[in-house]
Amino acid sequence: MAGETQADCLFCKIAAGEVPATVVHETETVVAFRDITPQAPSHVLVIPRAHYPDAASLAAAEPALAAEVLRAAGEVAEREKTAGSGYRIVFNTGSGAGQTVFHAHAHVLGGRGLEWPPG
Ligand code: AMP
Ligand code: ZN
Repeated sequence: MAGETQADCLFCKIAAGEVPATVVHETETVVAFRDITPQAPSHVLVIPRAHYPDAASLAAAEPALAAEVLRAAGEVAEREKTAGSGYRIVFNTGSGAGQTVFHAHAHVLGGRGLEWPPG
């Protein structure tokens, strides 16, 4: 069902407006909303409206849509005023890397110092 809405997917429901979220930016193809458990002063998730389980499968199937997600991440950082000092875009992929929602999403984190390497 990649590319189509999945009935049991939390982020498909947020994209459809069926589950509330604090939306900070949206286009025809992507939605950006605040993470419910922020890990930084600015922590926004950017998702494609279409369902793909992770970033790589999104990019393989719809590279232009993957690019839209990245472009929106940059716009979010500008709006959040983190673009100047620096921000991080993270795509956790697979449960071992901390992925808990299997609808592709970019974490856009900023507003504090971000250590490297990540934990
Ligand atoms: P990941 O662990 O990389 O799959 O990221 C999933 C993210 O979704 C986590 O950072 C959660 O805090 C966040 N999250 C879960 N449920 C919601 C929700 N209803 N609204 C906003 N963010 C959520
Ligand atoms: Zn989904």
